Amino acid sequence: MIVQDRLIQEFMELVRVDSETGNERQIADVLKAKFSALGLTAIEDDSRERTGHGAGNLFVTWAADSGAAAPKLLFTCHMDTVVPGQNIKPTLGEDGWITSDGTTILGSDDKAGLAALFEAIRVIQEQKIPHGQIQFVITAGEESGLLGARAMDPKHLDADMGFALDSNGEVGAIAVAAPTQARVTMQIFGKSAHAGVNPEDGISAIQVASKAISAMKLGRIDKETTANIGKFAGGGPTNVVCDHVQLDAEARSIVQEKVELQIASMREALETTVREYGAECEFRSEILYPAFSFNEHDPVVQLADRAITSLGLATRLFHSGGGSDANVFNGLKVPTVNLAIGYEHIHTTKERIKAEDIAKAAELVVAIVKESVKA
Ligand SMILES: [Zn+2]
Repeated sequence: MIVQDRLIQEFMELVRVDSETGNERQIADVLKAKFSALGLTAIEDDSRERTGHGAGNLFVTWAADSGAAAPKLLFTCHMDTVVPGQNIKPTLGEDGWITSDGTTILGSDDKAGLAALFEAIRVIQEQKIPHGQIQFVITAGEESGLLGARAMDPKHLDADMGFALDSNGEVGAIAVAAPTQARVTMQIFGKSAHAGVNPEDGISAIQVASKAISAMKLGRIDKETTANIGKFAGGGPTNVVCDHVQLDAEARSIVQEKVELQIASMREALETTVREYGAECEFRSEILYPAFSFNEHDPVVQLADRAITSLGLATRLFHSGGGSDANVFNGLKVPTVNLAIGYEHIHTTKERIKAEDIAKAAELVVAIVKESVKA
């Protein structure tokens, strides 16, 4: 059913299209043309006005064929890559692994997912496999902090459950949970004075910030929660009492309430210290994307599990340490898990994927569609 040569050829073609994050114009146009050649229309949303990236997100809605009662499915991949991703020269080795020439990434993250989707569409069309409504959402700017998905216009979304094809691991593995991430910015305002003449008239923002940081619980908070200060910025000449420091920090947790508690405790440590010293502060936090967590009883996991099992593969549920577009879709009320597609060493010039794993990913998409109609 899957034509592996055709699939791999298309994968090679896709990775040769430069699409470093921010510069998605060319790949977006290539993808639109490919959907259109399959008789499907891709709508581009207006998110590029908000992201400043080369393209918006693409939405393709494939209507149900007659009579198939099934949940509305969504499949998602991203169109951008990390750097160095220009002039990629992919090769398929004797051992079945596809690699770059070692000077760039390969781009299987996430073009293996895209190639698998296109092959699945062809197979469903050729074999006239009954299907419900299927949406494909191809995001821009995933690699620059999920910018495309976060700026998505949700009015285009219409799905009961979603599957991202964008995880490492053997095909059959499902990322069923991923943390939320909050960005925290703290400003500490002290008071400047001459460090030698009248230091008692000043309030050192550096001292206040240091004291506040030492009162914060950071690093590994518990099994599900982490926090980190990534940047401490401020100061100038040694003869001036420093009056301003900025701290850039983050907090993550699989459990939404825990990240909120962590942020509150960081705020409390800062504000208490600032009061002690008579300084001032500004504390800002922003949830970049929400957490999600499913178990084996959730319909989205059950459908993926049935499809994986139907292919004779082993299902493995795992928790991801980082956020992905799946977090954003979950935040927009489309229960979405992230499926492993077999790529390895992504974001490095050693990135690689087995040709047969791209084929398995395509088979998995077809199997999910088949199982959804049976449900
Ligand atoms: Zn990816």
